[in-house]
Amino acid sequence: MVDILRAQREGPAGVARRQRRRLQDLVAFARLHSPLLRERYEGLPPGPVTLADLPILGKRELMDDFDHWVTDPTVTRTGVEAFMSDPRRIGASYEGSYFVCQSSGTTGLPGLFVHDQRSVRAYATLSLRIDLAWLSARDWWAFATRRHRWIAVVGTGGHYAGEGWMEVQRKRDRVRQRSFGVIPLQTALPRLVTRLNALDPAALTSYPSELDILSREQAAGRLRIRPVLLEAGGESIAPAVRQRIESAFGVPLRETYSSSEFLTIAYSCDQGWLHVNSDWVILEPVDANGRPTPVGEPSHTVLLTHLANTVQPLIRYDLGDSILVQEGPCRCGDRLPALRVHGRTGDVLRLPGVPGDMVAIAPLGLATVAEQVEGVRRVQLLQEAPARLLVRLEVHPGAAVDVVWPMVRQAVTSYLAAQGVTDPQVDFDRQPPRTNGTTGKFQEVIPLRSPAPT
Ligand SMILES: [Zn+2]
Repeated sequence: MVDILRAQREGPAGVARRQRRRLQDLVAFARLHSPLLRERYEGLPPGPVTLADLPILGKRELMDDFDHWVTDPTVTRTGVEAFMSDPRRIGASYEGSYFVCQSSGTTGLPGLFVHDQRSVRAYATLSLRIDLAWLSARDWWAFATRRHRWIAVVGTGGHYAGEGWMEVQRKRDRVRQRSFGVIPLQTALPRLVTRLNALDPAALTSYPSELDILSREQAAGRLRIRPVLLEAGGESIAPAVRQRIESAFGVPLRETYSSSEFLTIAYSCDQGWLHVNSDWVILEPVDANGRPTPVGEPSHTVLLTHLANTVQPLIRYDLGDSILVQEGPCRCGDRLPALRVHGRTGDVLRLPGVPGDMVAIAPLGLATVAEQVEGVRRVQLLQEAPARLLVRLEVHPGAAVDVVWPMVRQAVTSYLAAQGVTDPQVDFDRQPPRTNGTTGKFQEVIPLRSPAPT
């Protein structure tokens, strides 16, 4: 805890010193204990290395060779998958000490991530750094008087980082056990509004698209909550959406940049930038050839190096987001480096509801509903007309499309109906899910106005 405050105060030099030391330790450990990385690092000179000496690692390569990548032989892909097959284990420790989560596959390939105790401690202290940056003394007081009630409305049912981390927090002490909670994103809107009204959380965390939907309910007077902290993550936020949310709830919308690979990468400041917890995570913006992107220019992708996690070393790992690094110091006074994320746009679908009104559907919610149907490996939903969705499916080996498809159709149709969409038309598209031909990115939900990948 003391170290994160010190690192922030010391500024760039203090952060660089910590990065150097932690990187050397991590690389030395990986070379000794990860068979995959030992092989990839063969030919490197012994002794201290710089990041530029090291190869870039892709998600597919690491997932394909999972058992050789991890540094603890008791951790295996089969073991992690078996553990994750039971949703009652969300937030529980795997092999006695690891926090495991999966990415929902919005980038096309689901990932399995194992975080050791050191990482979990780092996320917890970094969360405190974030709260200290965001909350005034008055906010802390308001929090205490509201019994620290913190609710996350996120995708549930799988071992996703959002729900999993909330469960880990709940296990820490009785206060958190009582005060922290998760409401599934899939909850029908009227029910969600009723539950939130009953809980009246002091802090509310969700995706921007979902907060946008809730802001309409708040503005209409159906939702009546008084959050001290509103936190969004997972998608980028359009200025108009931010304004709607902030004016409905009367508090600034705070934002985190997080991933299943590293839970607390960066946090927003009042100048509209995200400050990176760079004493524990290194981000390198690069072009399509892996060369550094100049400061002030949007990158093609970003390489992440996780300085805490030794069980599954993420070193120059291609995260797949386009970022823009701020030139010079931030006007907010925070000395940690700042960036903006360009690459994750959660496009909200608008479908016709009653009477003649358009209903906003959060893409993550919709995708999660379809993804959770048994047998689904990958799904893509394409809005072909205002009230018509085409579904592209990839099923698991051993599953049959003609069995899985009716269940997906049923799940998607009932979800849309529960959100207030009138007569949603959900049809099967023979084409498999595909990535965008221009950006190379996979988008699970493609709204009508976006150009469809061909
Ligand atoms: Zn700032």
